[in-house]
Amino acid sequence: MDFDPTSLALPHVAKLHPYTPGLQPGEPGWVKLNTNECPYPPSPRVAEALRREIGEDGESLRLYPNPRSVPLRAAVARLHGLSEENVCVGNGSDDILNLLVRCFCDTGAAAGFTWPSYSLYPVIAGIQDGRVCTIDFERDMRLPVGRIAASGARIFLLTSPNAPTGAGFSNADIEGVLRDFPGLLVVDEAYAPFADENAIPLLARHPNLVVVRTLSKAYALAGLRVGYALAHPDVIGLLDRVRDSYNVNRLSQAAAIAALADQPWLDAIVSRIRATRDRCLADWTGRRGWFTYRSQANFLFTEPRDGAGRTGPAVAAAAYEFLRSRKVLVRHFPSHALTASFLRVTVGTDGEMAVLNQSLEAWLKAPPNA
Ligand SMILES: *Cc1c(COP(=O)(O)O)cnc(C)c1O
Repeated sequence: MDFDPTSLALPHVAKLHPYTPGLQPGEPGWVKLNTNECPYPPSPRVAEALRREIGEDGESLRLYPNPRSVPLRAAVARLHGLSEENVCVGNGSDDILNLLVRCFCDTGAAAGFTWPSYSLYPVIAGIQDGRVCTIDFERDMRLPVGRIAASGARIFLLTSPNAPTGAGFSNADIEGVLRDFPGLLVVDEAYAPFADENAIPLLARHPNLVVVRTLSKAYALAGLRVGYALAHPDVIGLLDRVRDSYNVNRLSQAAAIAALADQPWLDAIVSRIRATRDRCLADWTGRRGWFTYRSQANFLFTEPRDGAGRTGPAVAAAAYEFLRSRKVLVRHFPSHALTASFLRVTVGTDGEMAVLNQSLEAWLKAPPNA
């Protein structure tokens, strides 16, 4: 008998396209500037906490983790001056975004987002067979406050600082949306530790605001998958109804508590990355004459100019391929007019940025189409 799981599956599931993550090469030797990971290790307290949690023989792993991640919620609440009822923890902030969309989006209720933006948003809306509503940016990438407020979306996902440009949106603009938008506004602050401003102070005045954070970027814990939502207790209560009962594993909870407790380590990493970022931005816009957005994140979005002074999608694609042939990985998003001429480059160590810059010099000197 023929068994065709695709025809048995729900029609909208059969049509889904999975999210395409950035390349994770299996072998060493790459300068990896493509997925906005931290180039520095996490606080040494993280490895200590993991060793303590595992113990001599892994005995503790027999037992399920704390189902609500209560000690971690308490640590997050303390860090931000909020109460534990304002916090839900997820298996990465992607888990939190997924839970939010699960609660607020379906065939009749739209999930809205600006475009271009984090390409996970349409994927998680698609899982719900959800309606989507996209608001296109102009090249200046200014926040279209009025159009978001009038979008009619039930839930709106806004990345700030934005991806892939790195541009931050001011609290004045975000508050402009909150004032007139009748749905839930989710500000995805994956990169907020690298920014001058964040939306957490707005939570006290706006029950329709959710701020989402991750430990993957500034805390250097992408491999452990921890993120969290800060919101009104009623919103947190909804997330708790739809999440997996043990959504954050025992080791990740212990590691995250240790990482959050070492704020001086975070501050040192963030100021190093900001210094490297701002030096690189000044060099590319000044000496190279490459248009580059002023970044509030741990990456730069730049429009490369080839040896003949040309820009455009083919130039960006050529630069990407040249860098890749030299084992330098960056990100190119060819499918949107506002991104196709650009490369997104994660801010690495000064050493990694030097290798990148040497490779770019070699590309500029290479014969065209080589
Ligand atoms: C990296 C990133 C995340 C994902 O974070 P995880 O906690 O690793 O799932 C969420 N949103 C944006 C905009 C990101 O760039």
